[in-house]
Amino acid sequence: MRLTIIGCGDAFGAGGRLQTSFHVRSAQTVFLIDCGASTLIGMRRLKLDPNEIDAVFVTHLHGDHFGGLPWFLIDGQYVSKRKRPLIVTGPRGIEARYLMAAEALYPGSTTNDPGFELVFQEYEEQRPLDVGGVTVTPFEVKHPSGAPPYALRFAVDGKTIAFTGDTGWVDVLYEVAQGADLFISECFQYDVTLPIHLDYATIDANYARLGAKRVLLTHMGEAMLSAKTRVDQSRYLVAEDGMTLEL
Ligand SMILES: [Zn+2]
Repeated sequence: MRLTIIGCGDAFGAGGRLQTSFHVRSAQTVFLIDCGASTLIGMRRLKLDPNEIDAVFVTHLHGDHFGGLPWFLIDGQYVSKRKRPLIVTGPRGIEARYLMAAEALYPGSTTNDPGFELVFQEYEEQRPLDVGGVTVTPFEVKHPSGAPPYALRFAVDGKTIAFTGDTGWVDVLYEVAQGADLFISECFQYDVTLPIHLDYATIDANYARLGAKRVLLTHMGEAMLSAKTRVDQSRYLVAEDGMTLEL
């Protein structure tokens, strides 16, 4: 299984990085974890085909995590001529929030038949959801976004990928990360602790209890990027747009 980082930036373009999106190619399926507004740009840059994507798993309803859906779906309809069904999973209300965003950006874009099946599925707290060979378990975290925000734990090809989404520290992250082959942690700040985002100091203080095999830091703001050289490389991988990891 191969994970490709399409975007690992914050919402504000820190370091010139694209917004959050991870591309996972497993034996059975190809999917995205989050779809920030710049996702299609990143996919073109990396020559990743949008028509291969079976599912998009959204952590929370902020634009830098789901705002790429309007472009992704309009591209599927008019440019890439998608035929493959698409499943989008997300917090309660994801379909309405997508429709609102798409209609604000491209009025009328959601009223035509897109030419492919589009299904939205909502998470229920810690209830595993099976989506075409992937089992995703959502854990509610702390990040106000108009709907419950989630960390997601994926079981696919016998491996576990876990992702914090955006969140302040919550102890459920121990459960999210435990035994994961790859734990992807947002790391917006270096040593400033915020209620709704993580920072390197907090992650590192909890590192031993996370129990993950590999930890990848992502969603870095300017302060964190400036402190990148102080990251303990025996513990962490630091994300870069375009980086790939084999699992
Ligand atoms: Zn957010």
